[in-house]
Amino acid sequence: MSQKRPITIARGDGIGPEIMDATIKILEHAGAMIEPEYIEIGKEAYLAGHSSGIPEEAWDSLRKTKLFLKGPITTPQGEGYKSLNVTIRKTLGLYANVRPNVSYAPLLQTRHDDMDMVVVRENEEDLYAGIEHQQTPEVTQCLKLITRPGTEKIVRYAFEYARKHNRKKVTCFTKDNIMKLTDGLFHKVFDEIAQEYPDIENEHWIIDIGMAKIADTPEDFDVVVMPNLYGDIASDVAAQITGSVGLGGSANIGDQCAMFEAVHGSAPDIAGKGIANPSGLLHGAIMMLVHIGQPEVAGRIHNAWLKTLEDGVYTGDIAKGEPHVGTTEFAEAVIERL
Ligand code: NAD
Repeated sequence: MSQKRPITIARGDGIGPEIMDATIKILEHAGAMIEPEYIEIGKEAYLAGHSSGIPEEAWDSLRKTKLFLKGPITTPQGEGYKSLNVTIRKTLGLYANVRPNVSYAPLLQTRHDDMDMVVVRENEEDLYAGIEHQQTPEVTQCLKLITRPGTEKIVRYAFEYARKHNRKKVTCFTKDNIMKLTDGLFHKVFDEIAQEYPDIENEHWIIDIGMAKIADTPEDFDVVVMPNLYGDIASDVAAQITGSVGLGGSANIGDQCAMFEAVHGSAPDIAGKGIANPSGLLHGAIMMLVHIGQPEVAGRIHNAWLKTLEDGVYTGDIAKGEPHVGTTEFAEAVIERL
């Protein structure tokens, strides 16, 4: 490959800049054919008068490159501008959020050595559609939106993903015993589309017992598809079970654009200390390289990362009391093993 692929990059806030700098350094040393184009989004842009927290030049870059590597961004809780993450996913039509959760035993201590599940989360609808109002001072309301076209798209994506990645089963989680119409539609569409994939096993669990099963026997799951909010929660739980929420990467896929990031947030409690694990964002970047047709360099980075763990180099979140290194040292250790 001779031409560099332009990508839009937001370093984010909190631990974002630390882990993004570490990740980009690894990508550059590995010879990834990328041409970064940095944008500023979030609080600073909001304070500068961009009500969404995203300036026009950031949208211009995203519309041009159609590829986004994003550091975590703090969302004001309970007030302030809407989640940038939700705005970006909806504006760019990123309907599928794919979050693999893999145990790295014996390189990392885990209670579930055979865990290898992928959460496929619907990314535009459900309670995240942004239809929320104050009815009276004492009553608030948020509407849950589930559509047939949106559900068909995400369920078909999950089955196609399973087929492409040689996975055996797709599980659906809903709460259709209570939300009979909305979650009922999601379940119904799942059952219909499952018929088109007789080569792939399918099952459905009510979300509460499904989550309990993920916590207890995650190795029983393969690809799991669900509405937006459940997927957000399930993927954090699953990432934490693999050893740390700091490990998981996340792909947000649309028909035109794609965005890659870490599963975790901006971790304000450890920001600026140089101790954050860059692995989640690095895994997001590895998924991005595969997506843009650079699987060799993606594989080389992943192998170097595995070798780093094999050699006992850990960040604090995964060290389990063993000696550990900071973000920059960890990235340098990966680079040495490329
Ligand atoms: P968080 O994921 O930021 O942190 C949860 C816990 O995990 C913290 O103790 C943190 O220190 C630890 N942690 C997270 N990432 C880590 C890493 N790479 N290395 C080591 N430890 C790590 O969750 P939160 O505290 O609930 O959220 C903080 C902010 O991030 C909120 O404003 C939230 O809205 C935002 N958020 C953003 C995104 C995103 O940008 N995609 C995703 C989730 C949360």
